[in-house]
Amino acid sequence: MSGTIDLNMVNAYIPGRADVGAETAATIDRRNRLLGPAYRLMYERPLHIVRGEGAWLIDGDGRRYLDIYNNVTSLGHCHPRVVEAICRQVATLATNTRYLHETILELAERLLATVAGTDLAHLMLTCTGSEANDLAYRMAKVRTGGTGIIVTETAYHGFTDAVSQFSPSLGMSVDLGSHVRVVPAPRAYHADGVDLGDRFTCDVEAAIADLKRHGIKPAMLIVDTVFTSDGVLPGPAGFLKGAVAAIRQAGGLFVADEVQPGFGRTGDHMWGFQRHGLSPDVVTMGKPMGNGQPIAGLMVTQDAVARFGADSRYFNTFAGNTVSCAAAVAVLDTIEQEDLIAHAAKIGAELRGGIAALAGRHEAIGDVRGIGMFVGVELVSDRLTRRADRETTSRVVNLLRDKGILLSACANGHNVLKIRPPLVLTSEQVAMVVQGLDEALAEAASAG
Ligand code: PMP
Repeated sequence: MSGTIDLNMVNAYIPGRADVGAETAATIDRRNRLLGPAYRLMYERPLHIVRGEGAWLIDGDGRRYLDIYNNVTSLGHCHPRVVEAICRQVATLATNTRYLHETILELAERLLATVAGTDLAHLMLTCTGSEANDLAYRMAKVRTGGTGIIVTETAYHGFTDAVSQFSPSLGMSVDLGSHVRVVPAPRAYHADGVDLGDRFTCDVEAAIADLKRHGIKPAMLIVDTVFTSDGVLPGPAGFLKGAVAAIRQAGGLFVADEVQPGFGRTGDHMWGFQRHGLSPDVVTMGKPMGNGQPIAGLMVTQDAVARFGADSRYFNTFAGNTVSCAAAVAVLDTIEQEDLIAHAAKIGAELRGGIAALAGRHEAIGDVRGIGMFVGVELVSDRLTRRADRETTSRVVNLLRDKGILLSACANGHNVLKIRPPLVLTSEQVAMVVQGLDEALAEAASAG
């Protein structure tokens, strides 16, 4: 069935595949009628969630689901400090960047302090990660005079017209731009001992040469610094350096997309690029920035933005509004006060260790990898050939959903469990995840 119906999202709900019950079916029908055909639901039996609290999502019957997938509410659902900051600010003043306001300046000072030692000098705000990457591309074009873009093969950078053209994970039905080149993702598990840094550098160099051969001047190399949709591929520290040098040599910018890894998830730094000792021209950020409040943005060097800023006016009605800025400041306060970067490292290591220990019992586990509170579990039908097992992956995701644990899958082969819990996950919750995964893998194997 999955071969005939491709809803082009890993783990998309497929109508008719499972009995969802009359009430859920009626809500799905109503939603389709009202929202139209472009939206996707997750899981064979979609969830109807009414409340969130810490790492938990709760449905209308009071059933609790451990949410280890949602890296927007990275401090946990409805974190009291963020809720309080939003309520206080929305009751005081909700307005835009055309008035002077302290909070946006405090936010800029605090964020720019996290990248001290780089050339990143300014903060610009948007509402979504897609807008941040769209703006990054506009700036790169102005700065370089080029249009060419290099991305990894299953990258996702956003939904706008410009950005969807360099988001190959959207699938075959969304055209890549003729100015876009894809390079293989740095998949250590499939590298057969080849140096990942050398290989990635060579692939980026080849993409630059191909752009030039077609008369296209490179504008930017953009990577998610943990390669999330490519399968959660942090790679060794420093391995991106050669590729970044290559794009700069060719006159292009290096854009670090920190929408997924940013705000401490990697457990060692605030930003994924910092592990590689890099100084990007542009850093884009989003998702966890407001713990649910829509705020995203960019940090840019003076050099990257100078020409764009002189020639163009930037205004975005909601971006940088006082309420979103207050939420983002509360997020930074919480990361600091709850020591969440260190916590992500500690609990993330427990999670990876617990899952890796299951590999002795479950042949399907080919690789367990990740960094901080970011884990990828690659499921294979044969450890020797490392062949992707998409069916088992989908079964495990849905079995876990039935056991009250929410995650999803990613990567080219749709066979990598993507685990991104809130940074506040506890050791007890790690034990629940490991036990649930143990059971789900056993059930999937016996059903298969
Ligand atoms: N970049 C990356 C790496 C992402 O994962 C996403 C969202 N999944 C985006 C950009 C786009 O962010 P948004 O959905 O806020 O537009």
